[in-house]
Amino acid sequence: MQVKSFMYNMILSELEDVVGVENVSTSEVEKASYTVDYFWLSRMWQDRGAEGPKPDIIVRPGSTEEVSKVLKIANYYKIPVHTWGGGSGSQGGALPMAGGILLDMKRMNKLISIDESSHSITAEAGMIFQQLEWYANEKGYSCMHIPSCLTCGTIGGALAHRGIGIFSSKYGKIDDQCMSMEVVLPNGDIINTLPVPKHAAGPDLNQIFIGSEGTLGIITKATFRLFEQPECRKHRAFLFPDMTAGLNAGRDIMQKVQPSIMRLFDEAETVSIIKKVIGFEKKGAFMNLSLEGIERIVDIEMEIVLEICKKYGAEDLGAEYGEKWFENRITFFYPGHIMDIPQMFGTMDTVADFGHIEKIYWAMKNAIESNFPGVRFIAHCSHWYGWGTMIYDRFIMDNPPEDKEEALRLHNQIWNTGVRAAMENGGVINDHHGIGLKLSRLMKEQYGPAFQVMEGIKKQLDPNGIMNPYKLGL
Ligand SMILES: Cc1cc2nc3c(=O)[nH]c(=O)nc-3n(C[C@H](O)[C@H](O)[C@H](O)COP(=O)(O)OP(=O)(O)OC[C@H]3O[C@@H](n4cnc5c(N)ncnc54)[C@H](O)[C@@H]3O)c2cc1C
Repeated sequence: MQVKSFMYNMILSELEDVVGVENVSTSEVEKASYTVDYFWLSRMWQDRGAEGPKPDIIVRPGSTEEVSKVLKIANYYKIPVHTWGGGSGSQGGALPMAGGILLDMKRMNKLISIDESSHSITAEAGMIFQQLEWYANEKGYSCMHIPSCLTCGTIGGALAHRGIGIFSSKYGKIDDQCMSMEVVLPNGDIINTLPVPKHAAGPDLNQIFIGSEGTLGIITKATFRLFEQPECRKHRAFLFPDMTAGLNAGRDIMQKVQPSIMRLFDEAETVSIIKKVIGFEKKGAFMNLSLEGIERIVDIEMEIVLEICKKYGAEDLGAEYGEKWFENRITFFYPGHIMDIPQMFGTMDTVADFGHIEKIYWAMKNAIESNFPGVRFIAHCSHWYGWGTMIYDRFIMDNPPEDKEEALRLHNQIWNTGVRAAMENGGVINDHHGIGLKLSRLMKEQYGPAFQVMEGIKKQLDPNGIMNPYKLGL
């Protein structure tokens, strides 16, 4: 104990030497604020009076060079490093499960450059995404990465778990929008991916670090595409007789035009959340859709959308409910509209091609509802691609067990059941929330023998296994 305490203080002083005494903390109160993110289990654990996973030392670096020096120290002493952006992740990805160093990135929040000829913007990765969007807006552009966590998630957090924003169906996911990155490797080396993403000089290194959830390195800077603000944005809503008709129409729309937003809500979500937030009363599968860009093109695209929706038996609800949805796009996440403790809930977030998606929807719904009486299942498809879509499916239990261990076990059983139903039917377990701690145990099942590629990369880059232990199945 004496030796540990002596050594601990030696390491602490090395870290203080790198980032300054004022940027290192061992305060118990500050440590407590890093024991919970938006993962239900971490919140339930504290709700039941138990202590969450705490770091030993909080470090707040101010530059890439400081991150590099911190990682060199961590690697030398083999201390775990957990990177923390905004802490808004829902998968327990940033939780310091192995103690050690908690690297809070939010001091690294500087704008580096805007290149108007290339339509690109570069900033440090600890910046909250809303700030980056404001810088883009000042010049008349948008990053078009507008997630519901815009005001609480960082650039690094969005990249680290492959985030997505509401305009994704037209402008892509964060992995389509990121052009290049600066990353600090676990050994402290600072590397840059190639300056442009579309090249034939080998594999795209961006795609090794995007989605790596702090297990392979720390993203310190990133360059994103900038988009011109659309001349117009037009909203519309439809009511389909059922999910089957809505999914068929959604597929047809994506294969002919490119809406920026398209959301299809199943019958259960239409009569619950859609009714509650935008006051729409009828039964069926509600769809809202937005088209944007040059007005003449948008008007033609809207004609095509109307024809397709009519073909699949939809009632055209006009612009009103589409506009209401858009105005309330964040309201869906306000207290009172979103599930909250004491309820048990989770968003399973599955992605697949059009050939499998409907089968997956029914398999997950049946698996959850038949195995767990009293658990509700609601779903919508929120992000669409030319080849498929994702299901943002939630389970909700109003009265979960009071005992925390029992609640944890039941929570994981529900997840295992739902996720396995998706995988068995051709689904991939996550579209944009990431794996984190929540789904770590299922990664090998998802990948099969292909997982050895990820294990090999991990072993090569992080032989001491210091980066975000227990996450991403690594
Ligand atoms: C109300 C609400 C709405 C949400 N809506 C959306 C949405 O629309 N779209 C969406 O994609 N997500 C959404 N999320 C999920 C979450 O907010 C996002 O995952 C967010 O981008 C996480 O960013 P963060 O900075 O908070 O990351 P954190 O939670 O701090 O970390 C997430 C993961 O990224 C790693 N990480 C963080 N920074 C770095 C870095 N610089 N280098 C390497 N690894 C790093 C962490 O170690 C961890 O593994 C929502 C969450 C909430 C609470």
